[in-house]
Amino acid sequence: MSAARAEVEARGETFYQGASRVHLAAFPPKERWDDWVELSSRAWPRREEHHYMLVPTTCFNCESACGLLAYVDRDTGQVRKFEGNPEHPGSRGRNCAKGPATINQVTDPDRILYPMRRAGARGSGQWERVSWDSVLDTLAARIRTALVEQRQNEIMVHLGRPGEDGFTERVLASWGVDGHNSHTNVCSAGGRTGFQFWMGIDRPSPDHAHAKVIYLISAHLESGHYFNPHAQRITEGRANGAKVIVLDTRLSNTATHADYWLSPQPGSEAAINLAIANHLIQTHRYDREFVRQWWNWAEYLEACHPEAAVTFENFESVLAGLYAEFTFEFAAAESGIAADVLAEVAEVVAGAGTRFACHAWRSAAAGNLGGWQVSRTLFLISALLGAVGTEGGTFPNAWNKFVPRPIYVPSHPGVWQDLSWPLEYPLAQNELSFLLPHFLLDGRGRLDTYFIRVYNPVWTNPDGLSWMEVLRDPSLIGCFVALTPTWSESAFFADYVLPMGHGPERHDTHSYEQYDGQWVGFRQPVLRAARERLGTPVTDSRQVNPGEVWEENEFWIELSWRIDPDGSLGIRRYYESPDRPGSKLSVDEYYGWMFSHSVPGLPSRAAAEGLTPLEWMRRYGAFEISSGQGALHAGEVPVAELSDVRVSPLGRVYTGAAATVDPNIVPMGAPGPDPDGRRAVGVLVDGVVRRGFPTPSGRLEFWSSTLAGWGWPEQALPGYIRSHVHPSRLEEGQVVLLSTFRLPTQIHTRSANAKWLDELAHTNPVWIHPSDAARFGVRQTGDLVRVSTDIGYFVAKAWLTEGIRPGVVACSHHMGRWRLDGGPRGAGGMMATVGLSREASEWAMSRLASAGAYSSSDPDTQRIWWSDTGVHQNLTFGVHPDPISGMHCWHQAVRVSPAAAGDQHGDIVADTGKAREVYREWLALTRPAGSVSPDGTRRPRWLMRPLKPSEAAFVLPEGGE
Ligand code: SF4
Repeated sequence: MSAARAEVEARGETFYQGASRVHLAAFPPKERWDDWVELSSRAWPRREEHHYMLVPTTCFNCESACGLLAYVDRDTGQVRKFEGNPEHPGSRGRNCAKGPATINQVTDPDRILYPMRRAGARGSGQWERVSWDSVLDTLAARIRTALVEQRQNEIMVHLGRPGEDGFTERVLASWGVDGHNSHTNVCSAGGRTGFQFWMGIDRPSPDHAHAKVIYLISAHLESGHYFNPHAQRITEGRANGAKVIVLDTRLSNTATHADYWLSPQPGSEAAINLAIANHLIQTHRYDREFVRQWWNWAEYLEACHPEAAVTFENFESVLAGLYAEFTFEFAAAESGIAADVLAEVAEVVAGAGTRFACHAWRSAAAGNLGGWQVSRTLFLISALLGAVGTEGGTFPNAWNKFVPRPIYVPSHPGVWQDLSWPLEYPLAQNELSFLLPHFLLDGRGRLDTYFIRVYNPVWTNPDGLSWMEVLRDPSLIGCFVALTPTWSESAFFADYVLPMGHGPERHDTHSYEQYDGQWVGFRQPVLRAARERLGTPVTDSRQVNPGEVWEENEFWIELSWRIDPDGSLGIRRYYESPDRPGSKLSVDEYYGWMFSHSVPGLPSRAAAEGLTPLEWMRRYGAFEISSGQGALHAGEVPVAELSDVRVSPLGRVYTGAAATVDPNIVPMGAPGPDPDGRRAVGVLVDGVVRRGFPTPSGRLEFWSSTLAGWGWPEQALPGYIRSHVHPSRLEEGQVVLLSTFRLPTQIHTRSANAKWLDELAHTNPVWIHPSDAARFGVRQTGDLVRVSTDIGYFVAKAWLTEGIRPGVVACSHHMGRWRLDGGPRGAGGMMATVGLSREASEWAMSRLASAGAYSSSDPDTQRIWWSDTGVHQNLTFGVHPDPISGMHCWHQAVRVSPAAAGDQHGDIVADTGKAREVYREWLALTRPAGSVSPDGTRRPRWLMRPLKPSEAAFVLPEGGE
């Protein structure tokens, strides 16, 4: 008994046991999640207890999908707050500011609660409430008609943050349409492409916690990919003595924590990587055995050096000369970073050995023409060091991710969507999503029914005014449907705005590479799970969500059912209950089947607690399938158990026993069958068949037969492409604008409806080095500047800082939200009210009213003290698709000057006619499939596609150029 208790009881009083939380660092132990007690902070000094049921879900405010625990008040039945879920293996109870701010989104006074239909012209701001039934019937009839009339390519679902693994793709496959579009080519396609050509897998999974050197071309400690789960492991690595090297032209929060912060001239990052690689080669500090076993050097020698015998020694001789020109002096001249600093960094890298963890995401890979070579050259360093699949090294993401199989897997669609996968970009990593307006204006097609989901194309993409022009045109887009929890710049132009749930109001499963392990997370409507735990069944998430907010999965199931009510189109069978023939599949059945049949180890773990797998996931929210995956590529394939095994001359191993191959043997994304229809199962390494990588060769592809064979032989090796903003390409007076960086406390669209986050970050001034400011005639922070691009200009405030390289300016893309005058309020604390005018192809946007305090159901909206919500710079950017990866190259060559007379903060001018010219200039850089395809197909079959069409659809159309 404690002394305090003894003292109280000695007075004859009852000792207060205390709330559940015993000290501030502790997480609620899962055994007490049914009745967790905390004291009211407002009642103090009275001890007023709150009793909570803690229900897990996952955050939906970025792609990390960290675990959250909803604190459901047992008295009111409402969610009081969100904190971290300690049972989640990726985030381990920790969150960034955006996680707890989920409660703001749930209680947001401006959120959309009911289905709305446009009541005036598109964009007029007039809406009427409609029933879900009428919406579903209307959409189902349109889609059914399109399918029956063989207009499959007129149906498209365009996703922003997917937040789930595969549900939407499967819906589209079940309809037989190639209608999946994504945001990835304005986001991460450049970074992915470089990894893809090496590994056949498009993302790295660095084991930061055990690394000796962490090398980041990103801002992972504040906002990078899988930010919080990675940041906490980078922090562990640092605590264990790891050196952190950060390449970022801007002094990010991440850079402030680096041992080496390199601020390169934008676009020179690949030259730095190659100088380090050359240092490893010239000083023989590469892992010779790893290179010999795992690189496709033999294939390279055969193809490019037919005069040489195919021996590793000959390859090493060639390798010694390949990068000799990438001296530290060369990289210094390109990057502006001193050669001796680069040499010191290279020595640190060389000392990492197999504990070299790296990541390149967005940032330089998303900014530059040829940015995909930034990640390809970065992985060259990993591959030289042999730091692939090692403790403290970098894994292919598929080694650290697990996607469970769902109950039904519809077949591949038999059509090809040219509006997303045009012939000009046969090697594009993802859909050419941001070119959609131009393709529609070119007359390449039209859309009958166009859905956007967690996506705000007018605001997020470059050239948003071209988007606005096509979204307003019913001859190009017949019916525009926005699935969204909040109003957005794009939703204003929709025909239907349909309210979807935030993270704690919907179901999703996901698995992301955050450490050397595999886990599955479960996002769920928390009030549904709470009610069910109390014994009240819930059959539809609308029964517990606010207003008539729904979730997409139930919406898609219901819509699909209505498209094919009698099953004659072959769609309904994918939505039928397995146990109740003729009845609709429920989400409980969908996830119950998946967790019972497709997640190894979960059924027995659940059974040990007397729960079904679904009940277990509803209770804990995430399940770790395995940890310590190790070097899966080196795993032996039991070929003796396979039949009809063939080995290609270069050691690729195939089997004819396609149907019987254990899927765990076949690497995720393995290339298609050989010409005889056999399936690739491994690669011969020193006489042993090993699993290998899902590339055509089965090895790491130093030389890409795909790039060489599809018209880009000069880019088949890791190399350096001079950016479109290379100093040699800038005109007199131009500087580079970096527009890609994130702010730690905001995401693109939905976080504007989180009041805490808005208070933390609400503006995006232009970073200008003082030496440049003097040159531009800008006197001080806060002065207005005009930033001119090739299609227009924007007016913003200047921030004079030495945190940016001279000759470069920067502006975050998260700000500048707006609403049209007369339209819905949207996000009162973050959206300025603007007016739009047009003269021929030139648009002008000016601010009519700034954001500020307003009355609502939330008294905090009266306390909004800020009015500067930044500038929407993306409207002034033309489209810059990289001709290989398809990534939009975000960096801009701009001129900066003091604002002109009459300029006001937030003013924007952009010319969509000029935007068309920029589109055509970049399109001319491509090498279309019709002229380069080596086999009469549109695209190499082995490259990833979220929704891969049937083989027949890959064949080039007649006359396809
Ligand atoms: S990093 Fe932050 S925003 Fe992203 S999922 Fe985790 S808590 Fe949410």
